[in-house]
Amino acid sequence: MTYDALFQQAIDQLKSERRYRVFTELERRAGNFPRALNHSRADAPEVTVWCSNDYLGMGQHPVVLGAMKAALERYGAGAGGTRNISGNSHPIAILERTLAELHGKDAALAFTSGFVANDAALATIGRLLKGCVILSDADNHASMIAGIRHSGAEKKIFRHNDVEHLESLLKAEPANRLKIIAFESVYSMDGDIAPITEICDLAERYGALTFLDEVHAVGLYGARGAGVAERDGAMARVDVISGTLGKAFGVMGGYIAGSSPLIDAIRGHASGFIFTTALPPAVAAGATASIRHLMASQVERDRHQERVIACKRALREAGLPVLNATSHIVPLMVRDAALCKAASDRLLERHRIYIQPINYPTVPKGSERLRITPSPFHDDALVAALVSALVETWDALGLPREKALLARLK
Ligand SMILES: *Cc1c(COP(=O)(O)O)cnc(C)c1O
Repeated sequence: MTYDALFQQAIDQLKSERRYRVFTELERRAGNFPRALNHSRADAPEVTVWCSNDYLGMGQHPVVLGAMKAALERYGAGAGGTRNISGNSHPIAILERTLAELHGKDAALAFTSGFVANDAALATIGRLLKGCVILSDADNHASMIAGIRHSGAEKKIFRHNDVEHLESLLKAEPANRLKIIAFESVYSMDGDIAPITEICDLAERYGALTFLDEVHAVGLYGARGAGVAERDGAMARVDVISGTLGKAFGVMGGYIAGSSPLIDAIRGHASGFIFTTALPPAVAAGATASIRHLMASQVERDRHQERVIACKRALREAGLPVLNATSHIVPLMVRDAALCKAASDRLLERHRIYIQPINYPTVPKGSERLRITPSPFHDDALVAALVSALVETWDALGLPREKALLARLK
């Protein structure tokens, strides 16, 4: 048996479980958001993207592009090495001070992605706090799960957003044991939001450290875009906030913000931070410009929320099964892997609408869905086109629409 035959077996297994991922090759065009050219077809038709995590279109914002172009001319392309070996990059230091200010923390540390930030930070925190237990929400992202595993610490999973279950687990631990609660603010697949205040109450009562992933909330919630903890007035109570620069901020990279000793300890102990080339200066400058812009400007957040509400309402009025969620994420339930893929294919081929199917293992089997993310640029005409395309697709595939809702509207 050759090595390639073994790899082929692994691929075949994915295919037999309907987990094989097909990528759509898109060319996004600055100035034309949310349109893109679909290079998966030879004629490269223009499509409308309805599933981008560039939630506000900041990836093409003139302020961000201007800062990146200027930084590229001034500093060149790459960082030239790791922060330790090749000199700490001035634009990254500015970025970190901006992030600390955004979250009202002593300090922040930038990583090459949000995944690396979560993995490196949790692995290091869990290792440094000897004998600790990490209490992890059941729906936590793969990057947190990886970090917890790499820490070698004991892990206990609490039912998703269930503060009573979390309390029972905390109560069962010896009072003097070190404890970490790891959770997210906005959960990106169901679009629901954690009870941050209640979790902070428990953390204080049981002496736990809180680690909050605000990846799907930074830029989008709170008066300055610091996230749901800022919106809920709980930011100062959260010990570590992790975020990404690649979603609402529209660029790339990840970070954590927290107390000086915690950040300094991770800076000195996390191999995922130390032994890798730093972010390019232009990326750091673009991210800083994006954060600064969204700290001062509420227009994008207001328009985003207004578009989300308009889109949800239009989908519901057509009897389409939108999951009830309070965030900006609009999950449309299909509940079958093959039909979910078929719906996505049909939307792309017939209607030139791109919405990636979300299947197992990203979501549990039987909860397959289309995950729709309206942006400030999805106007009424685009919403109307989306609804009619979905109605055609739902009816063609024999997917149920919610008749009770339809009847009530008639
Ligand atoms: C996307 C995501 C990450 C990783 O962030 P990247 O910057 O894309 O690596 C971390 N946590 C959650 C919840 C995410 O959805």
